[in-house]
Amino acid sequence: MQNYNLAILRGDGIGSEIISEAIKVLDAVSVLSNYEINYNEHCIGGSAVDNYGEPLPRETIDGVLQNDAILMGAIGGPKWEKLEKAKRPESGLLKLREILGAYINIRPVKVFDALIDASPLKKEIITGVDMVIVRELTGGIYFGQPREKTVDKAYNTMVYTREEIKRIAIAGFELARNRNKKICSVDKANVLEVSELWREVVEEVANNYEDVSLSHMYVDNAAMQLVRDPKSFDVILTSNLFGDILSDEAGMVSGSIGLLPSSSRGDGIGLYEPIHGSAPDIADQGIANPIATILSAAMLLKESFKRDDCSKKIISAVSKTLEEGYRTKDIAMFNAKEVVSTEEMGSIIAGHISE
Ligand code: NAD
Repeated sequence: MQNYNLAILRGDGIGSEIISEAIKVLDAVSVLSNYEINYNEHCIGGSAVDNYGEPLPRETIDGVLQNDAILMGAIGGPKWEKLEKAKRPESGLLKLREILGAYINIRPVKVFDALIDASPLKKEIITGVDMVIVRELTGGIYFGQPREKTVDKAYNTMVYTREEIKRIAIAGFELARNRNKKICSVDKANVLEVSELWREVVEEVANNYEDVSLSHMYVDNAAMQLVRDPKSFDVILTSNLFGDILSDEAGMVSGSIGLLPSSSRGDGIGLYEPIHGSAPDIADQGIANPIATILSAAMLLKESFKRDDCSKKIISAVSKTLEEGYRTKDIAMFNAKEVVSTEEMGSIIAGHISE
């Protein structure tokens, strides 16, 4: 029997509710698959500020690093928005990604057939969309120095080193090689020097992947093509800022933010979380959609535990549940047979795994 250690960070808002359902589903798969997961829980975000006075306490850092992977809910909320920057929940998450050396952020965007009507785009445009955004996560303008805000002036610095670009490009090409051998690198090389270097290094890396076809696109055009013809993309490779914006745009192609998972990996263990936030407006009401977190757990099984078989079981159980017409409130308007709670959604998906 294989044993895995999994750190659980519930976070704030709906974090706890959605994580409980992901654990339920992980347990249902493990019963059938000859492995056991030892869960250990730690505090992050606003709840850590309340309990420890900081968003990423030492106890959490030491605790999570003992594990094979981390599954997180979401952090943040109005209660902590006015705190000084270092104390805000988001600072805890940024610091955790930095400590993990998690420079590769992967966001798959796939449209479930049963939810085609959930997309604001026309059916013929989104049928068959299946792309992955590979976003650089620990560099670029969010981290670049110098940065400052004074009363009359504020600035940030977008900076990338050759090495930072090279390692994320390799991650992108490796992924593309295992998919449809097609990658689109998105930059703003007509205006930014940092993008000129990005393009140069991506082309150098491409020389080692002759089986993968590379194209370049300016970010403004990419934003347009994502809604005009999302099917034309397979793997999108891009920097931190552009990836942040494009992945939310691509996320809406699928209809609800409550459906999309992500992984952040690099030098250390992987961090898996839904792309959405802590949704304080619907916390503790039992109406949050747990599917993005359940699919994040599926990514975790595939990428960190190398159990693609188990990952596929979760994806097909989610697909079956949606085909049967079960919907949480956020997607209730699209071919719903029955509107279910967060907990019921988790139980139905777990039930399909055990069948
Ligand atoms: P959000 O993603 O939390 O919510 C946006 C909208 O989507 C809300 O109407 C919410 O109810 C809905 N929504 C989100 N997830 C849902 C789900 N699973 N099921 C059903 N509906 C869902 O974004 P926001 O409101 O801008 O931010 C709220 C807090 O989350 C802020 O403090 C923000 O900083 C934080 N945040 C955290 C992360 C993270 O933990 N990685 C990411 C983004 C935002």
